[in-house]
Amino acid sequence: MGAAARYRRKFLAEHPICAFCGGQSHSMTIEHCPPRAMFQDRLWPEGFEFPACKDCNQGTGNQDLLIAMFARMNPFEEKGDADGRLEGLMRMVNKQYPGMFEKITPSASEARRHNRELGLKPAPGQTHQESGMVKVPEELHEAVCVLAKKLAKGIFYRETRHIFPDEGCLLLNWFTNADLVRDGKYIVFDLLKKISGEVPPTVRAGKYLRDQFEYKLSISPEQNVFILQARFGAAFGLAVFGSTIPGLLESGITRLRDQSSRAGPFAVLQSPTMQC
Ligand SMILES: [Zn+2]
Repeated sequence: MGAAARYRRKFLAEHPICAFCGGQSHSMTIEHCPPRAMFQDRLWPEGFEFPACKDCNQGTGNQDLLIAMFARMNPFEEKGDADGRLEGLMRMVNKQYPGMFEKITPSASEARRHNRELGLKPAPGQTHQESGMVKVPEELHEAVCVLAKKLAKGIFYRETRHIFPDEGCLLLNWFTNADLVRDGKYIVFDLLKKISGEVPPTVRAGKYLRDQFEYKLSISPEQNVFILQARFGAAFGLAVFGSTIPGLLESGITRLRDQSSRAGPFAVLQSPTMQC
């Protein structure tokens, strides 16, 4: 047996239950979350491997692809494509999602208006459309939801050693770099700034990957309520509000919505009573 197979066997023996489906299934595979393709130069952070059953591991390849491309969108510099993989990712996205580029690219007038609002100027030789932000079609929203749900459950598992239960609730608020450009910061992160939490380093072999992915986890002492804030370079950010107590977040959602009215509504990632 090779080293990789030995590692896998040991990992699955130590983590016998899938972290993503409420403790219903045995783990069969190792799931990387965030997906490895999101990271430059094949350097993804250590410790973001989670036990998954076959069903939870499969079927999100297209969303992973879309999110890998999206994570490389950087309005400030070319850094998002440091390893030159963006073009290849775009080709694959175009194959899996025909017409996606038309959907994410604003029209010339939309782009001009948007850039004017945000104070963006196209670089020499660039059109407004090329310098502008992407639009967010439903497919991209779905891909962010898939990522946020897995990441929240994975990090919850790592932190508590408990599987996030089916009766728990997960709410998502996420924002693109348009907020970052307009406000110079993510308003939601600012609102949550005073809530203390762990900010573990995201590292691989001594190389810090914070510029591509960083997060903060705030969790109650009873480990039944948490907020996960994650930022993916200059591309997008998200906040997941989670609770294992049935009904708690569902009843609080109105209050949470009021607090972040600027950043848009919450998406329900999981709830036994509210529609996702
Ligand atoms: Zn599963």
